Amino acid sequence: MKADSQGTSRRPLVAGNWKLHKNLADTRALLDDLLGRLQSKEAAEIVVAPVFTALSTAQQRLAGKNIGLAAQDCCEQPQGAFTGEVSVPLLADVGCTFVIVGHSERRELFGETDEQVKRKVLAVLKGGLTPIACVGETLAIREAGNTEKHVLAQVDAIIDGLETLDEEPLRAKTVIAYEPVWAIGTGRTATPADAQAVHAAIRRRLAERLGPALSDGTRILYGGSVKADNAASLMAEPDVDGALVGGASLDATAFAAIVAAAR
Ligand code: PEP
Repeated sequence: MKADSQGTSRRPLVAGNWKLHKNLADTRALLDDLLGRLQSKEAAEIVVAPVFTALSTAQQRLAGKNIGLAAQDCCEQPQGAFTGEVSVPLLADVGCTFVIVGHSERRELFGETDEQVKRKVLAVLKGGLTPIACVGETLAIREAGNTEKHVLAQVDAIIDGLETLDEEPLRAKTVIAYEPVWAIGTGRTATPADAQAVHAAIRRRLAERLGPALSDGTRILYGGSVKADNAASLMAEPDVDGALVGGASLDATAFAAIVAAAR
């Protein structure tokens, strides 16, 4: 647990984003392998995000276990004429408790805007689930010295949405994932100090706009080539409250080692 200035604590969260990998048989096999490697009580909350078509299968495998289920994206609308979309109520129906929103692949490959991310975060919260809202800069932005400005603009869009919610507990559920785009799937990782600097800036912005209590309680994950050998040093930083893991979450040994690093 990370103690904060208010004396409350943030339980680490380790989330695995399986992206477009694993059919039903592979989903069962990976979950069984992973369950066999985890302790019955882990320090970290653990979540995996399989493809939509494997959510139901994963839910059956995970019943009564200490791994939660996340979706990789969602529709901003609860229902209606939105061919091809999957809504938050349907994700809840299949056992999801988290939804990843605004992943850089959604932003870059599918043109998702800050406005859409804001609306999706609100849809997830209103549907009773927890958003993991992703933000992060490209290499060009980092090299131009504009990392903080860019990331905080993305965070501001999310906060704009949260400010429209009356209920404080609902706002406080949101998880932010800082994922430098240049570190995703590349093997390059932000140094713990670089990650900490951006996480601290995000937390300061949350405090300025939503108050210190919410800021202190919000979990901010790091994502971008997190592996067994760098997870502990990243999560040791005071404002790094866990990890969003892509590639390494497809390997039970590696993912279990990252979960162990949060102990
Ligand atoms: C991700 O997809 O969110 C991610 C961080 O991927 P990787 O761990 O493979 O860099």
